[in-house]
Amino acid sequence: MIIKKISNGLPEQVKYCVKCNISNQQPTSTNEYRHDSETIQLTIDFDDDNICAACKANEIKWDGTVNWEDREKELVELCERFKNIKQQYNCLVAGSGGKDSIFQSHILKYKYGMRPLTVTWAPHIYTDIGWINFNNWISKGGFDNFLFNPNGRLHRYLTRSAVKNILHPFQPFIIGQKNFPAKVAEMFNIPVIFYGEMPSDYGTKISNDKKFTNKLKDAHPGFSQDPLEGLEKEQIKLGGETIESHISKTNYVMEDFECYLPLDKNKYLEKKIETHWLGYYLRWVPQENFYYSVENVDFQINQERIEGTYQKYQSLDDKTDGFFYYTRYIKFGVGRAMMDSSMEIRNGHLTKDEGLSLIKQFDGEFPKRYEKEFLEYISMTREEFDGICDKFRPNHIWKKNSNRWELKTPLENDLIKKSD
Ligand SMILES: [Zn+2]
Repeated sequence: MIIKKISNGLPEQVKYCVKCNISNQQPTSTNEYRHDSETIQLTIDFDDDNICAACKANEIKWDGTVNWEDREKELVELCERFKNIKQQYNCLVAGSGGKDSIFQSHILKYKYGMRPLTVTWAPHIYTDIGWINFNNWISKGGFDNFLFNPNGRLHRYLTRSAVKNILHPFQPFIIGQKNFPAKVAEMFNIPVIFYGEMPSDYGTKISNDKKFTNKLKDAHPGFSQDPLEGLEKEQIKLGGETIESHISKTNYVMEDFECYLPLDKNKYLEKKIETHWLGYYLRWVPQENFYYSVENVDFQINQERIEGTYQKYQSLDDKTDGFFYYTRYIKFGVGRAMMDSSMEIRNGHLTKDEGLSLIKQFDGEFPKRYEKEFLEYISMTREEFDGICDKFRPNHIWKKNSNRWELKTPLENDLIKKSD
């Protein structure tokens, strides 16, 4: 199928998956160190029947293609290799105390007999519920935790840059969350890092089912052990702009940015650090991780519905979360309710029609609750923020109708067109 794409890599014609409702504009992960306003996004694959890659990846989790007993045996064998190493920790689990990191660390420790160090790259601004869950994870779950807070002033500066340059308020957090744990593993000589769900669960094609590869050209751009391949330090981009440019405009020096940079790829080899997705070995069902976390560490849910969506338990620890999802809605027309419901449809917890009505009801809702704190954090007025958002609305996705922005091809119209 030939798909026409516009300049930033998004398909020119908006389509929705016939099974889970996800839009074909949904980007997969990208190499954040090269991410700027010109970046070509790799979007989720759709086949000729308009079924998305995430639906296909999830289908084989349930239809008998994957033998989960065999996969669990593989996990037991993997753990056996590391279990008896005589040192403080034999594996690392990264997370902020959400349901997924709780599930991973807890099951590895109490079912598979591992000794994980949990590692946290702090959220931009903890929510009250996020802080409670973080503490429950460590105190009720019984884990050592390494919590790292990057320089708050620099982090705010980079977050503001990321909003201005690439409308991506979550980027500095994502960079840290993805790259910091490997450095801690190196520091403590920890031989294996467990990540959570497989990227393919969300439609990202990776070259190796189990591990990150160490060559950028062999990997998905968002999942490489060597994302810098060939880049000079000054040319690395953070917040959509080179470090060189940040240094020229501010008093920061190269060393200040060091905590955002990835572990040297040679260290992975030297220290024989392995990276594994637990979702390869155990069937990954976000809702079940939630129940597991409630049962084992008293995981708390939000009292109120989370803005932009219908659920109360996913991605709730950072006051900037809502803006991450809101800005994705601007850039790709994919809102938080669409992301949440499509995942639940794939796992059999919602029907396609239920998803549709949740998307109609909640997608694109402005995250009012933490608006003030967020805008203060990035030192912007609402007008300034809205102005930047409008610059990032692609023409093929948005139209203005009597001064209101509307999606040109909302999900319902797409369905009507199909039945014509
Ligand atoms: Zn789908």
